[in-house]
Amino acid sequence: MTKKNIEQILATLKSLYGQEKCGLDFNTPFELLIATILSAQCTDVRVNIVTSDLFQNYNTPESILRLGEAGLLAKIKTCGLANTKAKNIILTCHRLLSEYNGVVPKQMEELMTLPGVGRKTANVVLSNAYDVPAIAVDTHVFRVSNRIGLADGKTVLEVEKQLMKNIPKDQWSQAHHWLIWHGRKCCTARNPNCGECLLHNLCVFGKRNFKEA
Ligand code: SF4
Repeated sequence: MTKKNIEQILATLKSLYGQEKCGLDFNTPFELLIATILSAQCTDVRVNIVTSDLFQNYNTPESILRLGEAGLLAKIKTCGLANTKAKNIILTCHRLLSEYNGVVPKQMEELMTLPGVGRKTANVVLSNAYDVPAIAVDTHVFRVSNRIGLADGKTVLEVEKQLMKNIPKDQWSQAHHWLIWHGRKCCTARNPNCGECLLHNLCVFGKRNFKEA
């Protein structure tokens, strides 16, 4: 894909979705970390409902440890995979206090030592809580960028590296949000709406599968 095509694709996505921000509600890096752990296989809307209650009284590692695993589980049980998430959050709180003075680290490698935190979660925290340019590759970003041709990767890491190469660094974080919204609203998993998509003349999948009448 040419640089000009990439510029056109990014400009089109920007015109569609503008200045996007994280769909998870948070006030501190710790709140975003917990919300992102909770968001695995759960909608942002559901997570925001759960955290709006949880964070009223439990929004620090110390307070969550006081709540305890059983208490936490009761509060997050509607998020799915709640047992695993509760265990990981408790272990993460212990580790934050023992290793990082209770502060969420700003380094990818350090973030990924926290239980329940993979590369995607670390990238979400870095870009949204600390303004570090990053592209978190979730299921939407993976699918949409491979279809468009912004990436051609079989793994999340491959796609992340290709996107970082193809997209200017100052647009990484925004491009992440644009690709998510495009995946939710137009380029859906089962039925991509190529007929209505403004990218169909630029997109590898769209050019192959959609012909204008
Ligand atoms: S043209 Fe189709 S495949 Fe390409 S981004 Fe648009 S909806 Fe997705």
